[in-house]
Amino acid sequence: MDELRKERLQPIEGLPPDLIDLPAGCPFEARCAYAIDKCRTDLPHLEPVSPGHRIACWVDVMTQAPKQRGGNGHGAEPQG
Ligand code: SF4
Repeated sequence: MDELRKERLQPIEGLPPDLIDLPAGCPFEARCAYAIDKCRTDLPHLEPVSPGHRIACWVDVMTQAPKQRGGNGHGAEPQG
């Protein structure tokens, strides 16, 4: 994970959300190919995935399946 990545990041189509009127759920939902119903209504929590790296997503990045856990879905968890 600490290696310098050499591949180019792939842009996602569409426009970013209106920062004045953010959606209730994940701000990427309208443009995300992996979005599930929960993404539209609940903001995902930030969770550590490796030292110094955190991800906020309702879908498991390794399996591309919805995460099997609870949570209130309202904002990021405390950092630290
Ligand atoms: S929570 Fe994850 S899967 Fe859902 S819209 Fe956001 S980035 Fe996509």
